[in-house]
Amino acid sequence: MRNKRQAFQYDDQPLVNPYLKRNGYTGVQHANGYRRIRVEVCEGAANGYKSEHTLVAERALGHRLPKHAVIHHVDGNRSNNSPKNLVICEDRSYHQLLHQRQRIIDQGGNPDIQKRCSCCREMKLRAEFQKKCLSSDGLQQECRQCKSDNQKRRNRMNSTKANLKGLLPDIEIVSAKVHEAWMETKLAKGVTSRKLESGEELMVPYAELTEEAKDLDRSTVVAVYKAIEAAA
Ligand SMILES: [Zn+2]
Ligand SMILES: [Zn+2]
Repeated sequence: MRNKRQAFQYDDQPLVNPYLKRNGYTGVQHANGYRRIRVEVCEGAANGYKSEHTLVAERALGHRLPKHAVIHHVDGNRSNNSPKNLVICEDRSYHQLLHQRQRIIDQGGNPDIQKRCSCCREMKLRAEFQKKCLSSDGLQQECRQCKSDNQKRRNRMNSTKANLKGLLPDIEIVSAKVHEAWMETKLAKGVTSRKLESGEELMVPYAELTEEAKDLDRSTVVAVYKAIEAAA
């Protein structure tokens, strides 16, 4: 049986690390790779434990980490807390950016000029994405092509609504409600999972569905709207 937690010896000099009073502390390595050290000074340390990467980073800084700082492991190995392997990120969004860039590099791309589209999943030039100030990499998640395809798709679905001169609510809003209602019925019957042939899970909030899955709900609404039109 594999041991989930492994103990190891942590040696650091107490003089330069405000959390240590002596040399030689016992650390615990968790199954997720993170290593935690039992320390004597507990300020900012839950149950007297602090992560080894925090101890190493604070030692290099010479003081506590700033409030929103996050530590990134360059090689992706959470147990490798050598100072060379750690990058102190000012906040989560900067940390996210590093991971985004790393994913592009891992896929053989160049993060300075490329980005992967969250919709078609293709690696594209950064110029093929619209700007978005608040996102960590300054760009939208979907490429321009996907954005425009999705817009066209929505327009096509909404054409019925135009015929009814705005009497019926937006298809997107009603589709989300239809999805919720469908999920409630399933859950009431004790069903917690329904998948598409592609393997996509359908029993998630509407906003998390792919366009393909949303189309199932949209087509239901369109069919009902068309029936209303025909009857009107
Ligand atoms: Zn990271
Ligand atoms: Zn795309």
